[in-house]
Amino acid sequence: MFNSPITEIFLLVLEMNFSEDTYRFMYAALQEAERALVENEVPVGAVVVSDNKIIGRGYNQIEKLNDATAHAEMIAITAAENNIGNWRLEDCSIYVTLEPCVMCAGAMLASRINELYFAAFDPKFGACGSIYNLADDGKTNHKIKVYSGIYTEESQRLLSQFFSSVRNSSIKGNA
Ligand SMILES: [Zn+2]
Repeated sequence: MFNSPITEIFLLVLEMNFSEDTYRFMYAALQEAERALVENEVPVGAVVVSDNKIIGRGYNQIEKLNDATAHAEMIAITAAENNIGNWRLEDCSIYVTLEPCVMCAGAMLASRINELYFAAFDPKFGACGSIYNLADDGKTNHKIKVYSGIYTEESQRLLSQFFSSVRNSSIKGNA
């Protein structure tokens, strides 16, 4: 459903082979996204990884918490910081099922996250290659290495499943 914009990042990534661990961690992020789907939230999930271990998990909980900042990445970052007792996530990677928005990319810069892996591009809100590229805009004092294209279709499938169920229920509601 989403057409991934052809950006430099995307082209770079097409040439890369991801490790088994990369798929394992993105799969864990997809499982978080599924938890959001079960709770009727837009299915986005995230995990923060340090030293090849997941130290924080999160899924979108905007409706449940009635909080526009309750994105998967924000929750996973806070969980990771609490877990290690340090707001600096310098040696950490974050895996997200959807390209981060401006707020989440900002939180990644603030927490000094080293690497970002995301599954699907978000042409409407994506701030790591789509509408902006805050991960590496040359103006901030921190850069985040960005990789995409891991389990993209799986992530898009969850999102389409959610939006088609929303459409169906609103059609029924209007009948
Ligand atoms: Zn966000």
